[in-house]
Amino acid sequence: MDFDLSEDQRIALDALRRFAEAEVAPAVEPWRDAPIPKALARGLLRKLSRYGVGSGWLGESDGGLALDLVTSGLLYEELARISPGLAGTAFINEGVSLAIATLGTPEQKRRWLPALLAGDSIGCSAITEPGVGSNVRDVRTRAVRDGDGWRVRGEKTWISNAGISDLAVVVVRGEDESQGLSQIVVEREDGYRSRELAKLGLNDWSTAELVFDDVFVPGDRLLGEPGGGLRRTLQLFERARCFVAAIANGIARAALDAAVAYVQTREQWGKKIGGHQLVQELIADMATELDAARLLMLRGLHLVQKGIRCDTQTSMAKYFATEAAVRIASRAIEVHGAYGLSRELSIELHFRNARMMTIPDGTSEIQKLVIGRNLIGLAAF
Ligand SMILES: Cc1cc2nc3c(=O)[nH]c(=O)nc-3n(C[C@H](O)[C@H](O)[C@H](O)COP(=O)(O)OP(=O)(O)OC[C@H]3O[C@@H](n4cnc5c(N)ncnc54)[C@H](O)[C@@H]3O)c2cc1C
Repeated sequence: MDFDLSEDQRIALDALRRFAEAEVAPAVEPWRDAPIPKALARGLLRKLSRYGVGSGWLGESDGGLALDLVTSGLLYEELARISPGLAGTAFINEGVSLAIATLGTPEQKRRWLPALLAGDSIGCSAITEPGVGSNVRDVRTRAVRDGDGWRVRGEKTWISNAGISDLAVVVVRGEDESQGLSQIVVEREDGYRSRELAKLGLNDWSTAELVFDDVFVPGDRLLGEPGGGLRRTLQLFERARCFVAAIANGIARAALDAAVAYVQTREQWGKKIGGHQLVQELIADMATELDAARLLMLRGLHLVQKGIRCDTQTSMAKYFATEAAVRIASRAIEVHGAYGLSRELSIELHFRNARMMTIPDGTSEIQKLVIGRNLIGLAAF
C-alpha cells in the first residue's frame, strides 16, 4: 500500500490547482449561487478537458486521456474545492461520454463524443422522475415505436446539467413491460423542454426538470441493447458514488481551509481563537473526518479501477464523505461565530452545498441498505 502521490499525479494536480485558482475561481465568482451560464460552462469545460477533467475516463481511442480513476478523483476533489458546481457539471458530462463510449455504436460515438469531450456539448443523465426516486426500477417515462423512430413521453426531475444540456441520456421503459428499462439519447433539438429548479445549495450546478412531450427521435438513438438500461445504470453507481464523495470532499476541504485561516487571525479573550482548546477540537474533528472520507474515496476508486465488485466500499465512501462534509461545514460555521452565518462570506454556502450531497446517487439510507445487505446477506429493499 502506497499513500504517496506519483510524480504524474503531483504534476496533474498542481497544473489543475493553478488553473482553477487563476481562471476558474474568478470566472465563477458571480455564479456562486446561480446556475453557471451555458456559454461560460462550455468555455471552462473546454479548458478543463486538457487537464483530464471531463476527458479522463475515456480511452485514447475514444479521444480521452485514459487517466486512472484515483488521479481523476483527486482532480475532481481539487476542482470542487474551488467550484463544486463546475466539478459537478464536468462529472455528469464525463459520465454521459463514458456511457456513449461503452455502449455506443461507432456511428453514435462519432456523432456525440468529440463535442462532449471538447466541452462544446453538455450532456445529462435522466433517471429520476416526479414519482420515482430511490427505486429506479419504477421508471415510467416511455419510448414507443413510431415508424422508423421512437416517441419519448414522460417527465424527469432533479436532473443535473439538464438546464444547460444539449443532449440527455434518458432511462425509459419500452412498450413491452417485460422488456425492462433502456437508455435512449434525446437531443435538445429533438424538442425536450427544461425548467431550472431553485434549491438549498449547489445552485451553480444546473438541476432541472425535463419534459418529453411525445418527442420524436430517430431509430438509431437507443444506447446499448434494449432492456439493458437498469443493469447499466446500477453498474455505474459504484464509480459515480466515489465521484460524489470527491465533490463532497472538495467542499469540506474549502470549509476546513477557511476555518483554519480564520482561527489563526480572529482574537477573543486577548488571544487567537485557535489557541482555545475547544476551537482546536473543532478543527481536529474536521480534519480527521475529512481524512477518513478521503481514504474511503481513494479505496473505492482503486477498487473500481481494478474492476472488482465493490458496492460495499463505494457506498461507505459516498455515505461517509457526504455526511462528514455536512458536519465539517457546520463546524466551520461554528468556528466563524455569527460571521459563519453571513451571506457576505462563503461559509454558509459550503454548508448549503454540502447538505445537497447526501441525496444524489442514492441517499445515505440507501447506501446503508447496500452495506447492510452485503454484510448480512438479507436485502431490506
Ligand atoms: C443535487 C442533486 C443532483 C441530482 N442529479 C440527478 C441526475 O443527474 N439524474 C437523476 O436521474 N437524478 C438526479 N438526482 C435525483 C436523486 O438521484 C434522487 O433525489 C435520489 O435518488 C432520491 O430520490 P428522491 O429524492 O425521490 O427521494 P425518495 O426516494 O422519495 O426518498 C425519500 C426518503 O425516503 C428514504 N427511502 C426511500 N426508500 C427507502 C427504503 N427502501 N428504505 C429506507 N429509506 C428509504 C430516502 O432515503 C429519503 O430519505 C439528483 C438529486 C440531487 C439532490
